[in-house]
Amino acid sequence: MKILVINCGSSSLKYQLIDMADESVIAKGLCERIGIEGSKLTHQPAGKDKVEIEKAMPNHQVAIEMVMEALQDPAHGVIASTDEISAIGHRVLHGGKVYSESIVVDEDVKRVIRECFDLGPLHNPANLMGIEACEAAMPGKPNVAVWDTGFGMAMPEKAYMYAIPHEYYEKYSIRRYGFHGTSHMFVSGEAIKFGGLDPENAKVIVCHLGNGASVSASIGGKCVDTSMGLTPLEGLIMGTRSGDIDPAVVQFICNKEGKDVNEVLNILNKKSGVLGMSGGVSSDFRDIEKAKADGNHLAEVALDAFIYRVAKYIGAYTAAMNGVDAIAFTAGVGENDKAGRKAICSYLGYLGVKIDDEANDVRGKAAVISAPDSKVKVMLIPTNEELAIARETKRLI
Ligand code: ADP
Repeated sequence: MKILVINCGSSSLKYQLIDMADESVIAKGLCERIGIEGSKLTHQPAGKDKVEIEKAMPNHQVAIEMVMEALQDPAHGVIASTDEISAIGHRVLHGGKVYSESIVVDEDVKRVIRECFDLGPLHNPANLMGIEACEAAMPGKPNVAVWDTGFGMAMPEKAYMYAIPHEYYEKYSIRRYGFHGTSHMFVSGEAIKFGGLDPENAKVIVCHLGNGASVSASIGGKCVDTSMGLTPLEGLIMGTRSGDIDPAVVQFICNKEGKDVNEVLNILNKKSGVLGMSGGVSSDFRDIEKAKADGNHLAEVALDAFIYRVAKYIGAYTAAMNGVDAIAFTAGVGENDKAGRKAICSYLGYLGVKIDDEANDVRGKAAVISAPDSKVKVMLIPTNEELAIARETKRLI
């Protein structure tokens, strides 16, 4: 069984064709600058050379048509016809209060995705376009929606309700949802398997540390808390996002700088985080580490604050679960930055966490990085959102 996984952004479309017999990637690729001048498809068939095709992609429908052509191309294609594709799995950002479980797309599902445009203004419209483009290109094939907010929907009310007047929850569904759900679901599940933990009761904290970053706490794979909120702005310090902040800061900047709320929110989303804290060095953690090594004080503070915030969330989530069996690091920083992992764990001596430097000298593959006598298992678990979406799609059809 072959499953096509589609992840649409507002001007991009990532895809992977996965053979579910052995979960291998048959081909993957990326359409960039959809709807913008200079659009390009990069197609990578497994074991063959990468192909770049520059052609106007005015919308996601044309992008999907180009992906279908690339997949069936006599030279760099990997399938003879779309008949070989059993189903399409879509990453959909926001299912609102309605959906937590992945679901086969029908008119009701599309209506909910549309009703959630306000909650995911950049992604939900693109996700819907991707689904409709697949319906047009491959009529009759099942499309499955896998919600990025799905994992967080298991949170109890005490974790997801904001302490604001209740009417806003009733009227506008304002609550904490959490994001990176597919990654947290996948990594917490893999951590339980890899660490040989009790699948029903294991208390796991997942640190998804990339450009966007979030922490989740789950018991037996069921989310009890996660750091992102109504939007991905809440929680950790990220590449360009501020994470947790006193909301009065927004009003203060508005008044002092003559900006409106939308402008300040844009600053908190795109110009803050380690980029903003470092005085504009970079949103990329490698650049921040290099600047710190070169003696840049602001970069050092940004990195220290990032690590400190992660450690505080781990402490909070350990309290939330009354214990923790395993901590798993994932995503760009979590999978590659051994110094960052060690620095975070240096705050966790009170939990009996002990990192084994030799075991921690690892990148991008599943590994236990704690010492044998560590009271909590610390792991590196590479995330694989596409595979998680493909598995969900297979399960549902
Ligand atoms: P996203 O998917 O949110 O864009 P990724 O999970 O791809 O992000 O992570 C990207 C981040 O990972 C970048 O900031 C990059 O600098 C960081 N990263 C990658 N390798 C390393 C490394 N060796 N040390 C520190 N940071 C790294």
